[in-house]
Amino acid sequence: MNPRIGMLLVTVALLAGCASTNIQPVTSGAYEQLPEEKRINRICEEEQQRLADSEMLYDNAKLTRYVNTVAMKVLPEAAKREVDIRIIVINNPYCNAFAYPNAKVYVHTGILARMENEAQLATLLGHEMAHVTHRHTLRQRLNMRNKAAGLASFKATLGSVPLVGELSSALGELGTMASVSGYSRELETEADNVGFEWMADAGYDPREAPKLFAHLMAEMEAEKREEPFFFGSHPKLADRQANYQTCIAARGDVTGGVINRKGYEKAVAPAIYETARLDLKAGRYAKAVNGIQRYLKIYPRSGRAHYLLGEVHRQRNDGNDLKKAIDFFNRATKLDRKHAETYRSMGIVYMSAKDNKAARRAFQSYLKLAPPDAMDREFIQEYIRQLK
Ligand SMILES: [Zn+2]
Repeated sequence: MNPRIGMLLVTVALLAGCASTNIQPVTSGAYEQLPEEKRINRICEEEQQRLADSEMLYDNAKLTRYVNTVAMKVLPEAAKREVDIRIIVINNPYCNAFAYPNAKVYVHTGILARMENEAQLATLLGHEMAHVTHRHTLRQRLNMRNKAAGLASFKATLGSVPLVGELSSALGELGTMASVSGYSRELETEADNVGFEWMADAGYDPREAPKLFAHLMAEMEAEKREEPFFFGSHPKLADRQANYQTCIAARGDVTGGVINRKGYEKAVAPAIYETARLDLKAGRYAKAVNGIQRYLKIYPRSGRAHYLLGEVHRQRNDGNDLKKAIDFFNRATKLDRKHAETYRSMGIVYMSAKDNKAARRAFQSYLKLAPPDAMDREFIQEYIRQLK
């Protein structure tokens, strides 16, 4: 255990007897940061710096601007005056989002790629921002009965998940707790309720809130639940749906409201592409295909999406996959003549099919288009020599 965290837990344990029940949201009027919160926030900043240095963030200004704009539509003015919320995108294909108590909310490209519309994004961001404004990290820590067990269990969860394990070493223990273990059932339900009211008040269609969870759960069922994070730590889906139905009923008239599927898909298209690319890299072919097909609905004439589809077939190499790969690569070169990697992949497929002439031609096109310092230039030149 990080010694600072250990100290923090001791401090928190001493406080637990007296102060645990009366932590008010930042909007309550008399908000003042407690010394423990300041300490927690300093650790957060260190972890976030590590994360920023780790190259795990998704560097796309347009997409970052979009998710922050939606967050600002959802967050009430009174809360904006107290906390400086910032949404940051992490390049990771797993379906997750989490909030640090110092108002930084991290959203994976993987969850952006799998939500359906802006109203669902508003629901997700509302939930995460409510963890911040309602000071859930502090409340969770003050209420935790058995802190050692809490830490042990999240470490055990991490061990079995390589990608998130790697991410967690950059996150540190606070971030890992926020991203993997989540909060108590009571706090999660509060975040659902608060987030729901915010997204509905902002003019989004409230009926999309329960759909977000139903939709993501269905996606995960299809994936055999290999990503338990955002949901694993949360109240059971059935309870959650029932809770949303109560919220919707309490609101009365909920017909209409903003959904914005088209604008959402356009804005998150780069995350959809990137997630498909990472799914392919991890050998999750079916998921990669789903992602590319969704991207192609947004940009039907994308050369590099056709290239990626060809790559799925080339790498899977099952049945007549190589023939299909060539078809997609041909289509890709028609749509985008300048995409070097397409020609390299074509060359590799032709080479394995012993069509030396076509392979040589494809590799030569690759060398013409690839940047002068491309790492594989010499390899490809060697291939061309061998093919003669
Ligand atoms: Zn949560």
